[in-house]
Amino acid sequence: QAYAMDSSTGFSLHSDIVANYINNFGSEAQKHYWLTRMASGETVTAIAMTETGTGSDLQAVRTTAVLDGDDYIINGSKIFITNGYLCDMAIVVCKTGDSEKGSANLSLIIVEADRMGFSKGKPLNKIGMKGQDTCELFFDHVRVPKENLLGMEGMGFMMLMKELAWERMLVAIICQAGAEAALAHTVQYTKERKAFGKTVSSFKNTRFKLAELRTEIDFCRAYLDRCMQLQLEENLGIDAAAAAKYKISEMFSKVVDECLQLHGGYGYMLEYPIARAYLDNRANRIYAGTNEIMKELISRSL
Ligand SMILES: Cc1cc2nc3c(=O)[nH]c(=O)nc-3n(C[C@H](O)[C@H](O)[C@H](O)COP(=O)(O)OP(=O)(O)OC[C@H]3O[C@@H](n4cnc5c(N)ncnc54)[C@H](O)[C@@H]3O)c2cc1C
Repeated sequence: QAYAMDSSTGFSLHSDIVANYINNFGSEAQKHYWLTRMASGETVTAIAMTETGTGSDLQAVRTTAVLDGDDYIINGSKIFITNGYLCDMAIVVCKTGDSEKGSANLSLIIVEADRMGFSKGKPLNKIGMKGQDTCELFFDHVRVPKENLLGMEGMGFMMLMKELAWERMLVAIICQAGAEAALAHTVQYTKERKAFGKTVSSFKNTRFKLAELRTEIDFCRAYLDRCMQLQLEENLGIDAAAAAKYKISEMFSKVVDECLQLHGGYGYMLEYPIARAYLDNRANRIYAGTNEIMKELISRSL
């Protein structure tokens, strides 16, 4: 999908991220109920961490889930939630204890979209990825049974850290595929486009620029493949996943920018895939943890 330069719909968030939370931390009943519906497409899912008051600092979330008999009562709101508008279920990051305390009180709770008090804002007006709905979610005394808790109470931060490493790998994979596709489009375009009676690809500047991009892409591919191998061996560190996300998303932005330039004015027109990639790719340096936070994580391992 990324190689096709198609960023519409949040399939990956649904199948590669939310499904993993359920599969890795859910009870047998939760797995049976949700994974079957998610696989059939009957249920669209989201994961809601970010709030208006906090994004990078997950420990500071203000949404609360307070036990009342056998139920949790959830209050708060979330923003920038991929699949938020279409979702039938969201995994919501909540504080289940003292909201002033840090990570120890974070829990993940499954909230069905038809619960009383759960409402959605309009899809937000993003600069790119127009096919994906990204919106605000509001929780006003939403009552959910205790059985909707994912994993154990207070273990939310640990689960997020584990799954966010894979989420960052996914971003890196998507960026790698996108960069390879952008280069392929540009090689083809410059071979066809003529200026001064020659193809654009025949200019030394074009050949050198494409050679530089190809080299950067190949280096990133080697690192990504190494990380993938470690992931399959269950040995991928948080720092290595952060490095892959940071470096490959930066590389993708650079590749798309240079490739757009080689398309001339056509590169600025949205009917050309390179123009859409230019707008779509920008979010990769922001979500799944900003690249500044990636550098924080890498630096902690030094
Ligand atoms: C298209 C899109 C889809 C998204 N989908 C989801 C989703 O499905 N679920 C979800 O929960 N969230 C989602 N997000 C939210 C995203 O994860 C957050 O926007 C991101 O984590 C940054 O948080 P923030 O926007 O609050 O920025 P802030 O945390 O306010 O950061 C602002 C700036 O300060 C920098 N900064 C912050 N802390 C530090 C630090 N310690 N050191 C150095 N610099 C720092 C940041 O890097 C950034 O440049 C999405 C965002 C976008 C754009």
